[in-house]
Amino acid sequence: MSADCIFCKIIAGELPCVKVYEDDDVVAFMDIGPVVKGHTLVVPRTHHENIMTAPAAVLKKVIAVVQKIAQAQENGLKADGVNITQANGKIAGQVVPHIHFHVIPRFTNDGHSWNFPQKKYEGGDEIEKFAQAIRKGMGGGLAQ
Ligand code: 5GP
Ligand code: ZN
Repeated sequence: MSADCIFCKIIAGELPCVKVYEDDDVVAFMDIGPVVKGHTLVVPRTHHENIMTAPAAVLKKVIAVVQKIAQAQENGLKADGVNITQANGKIAGQVVPHIHFHVIPRFTNDGHSWNFPQKKYEGGDEIEKFAQAIRKGMGGGLAQ
């Protein structure tokens, strides 16, 4: 537990939340400021700041619950679709530094948008340069 972390306090029961799921490793509760009503957060009980630092074993457990919540939104809320979003770092929009996945039910005319404006790579090999930098970040070569 991290002393100043609002999600650690929620998980510990020191702050209230509206819970929809919990097991030994993962908790899911309603987002207090839904972008679409039904918006749910899925968090590991252990404090990890982001997807870069959370152990893969923890992420596997969290993503299984993300799927469970998405299925429950489809079945229970009759959602027509579901968006999963997840922010890492302030610049990416992360406000609470305890890794969490947003599970957002989608309905016709719900006022939410998934239409990110897209950019284009310059000609030549710019796309390959970006790919090379990412491969290098994994230690070089194609990841297995
Ligand atoms: P982030 O921007 O870090 O990806 O998302 C943080 C999310 O946590 C926001 O959607 C925000 O509404 C939600 N949130 C922040 N504080 C609380 C809280 O005290 N309780 C609940 N249930 N959600 C919170
Ligand atoms: Zn925490």
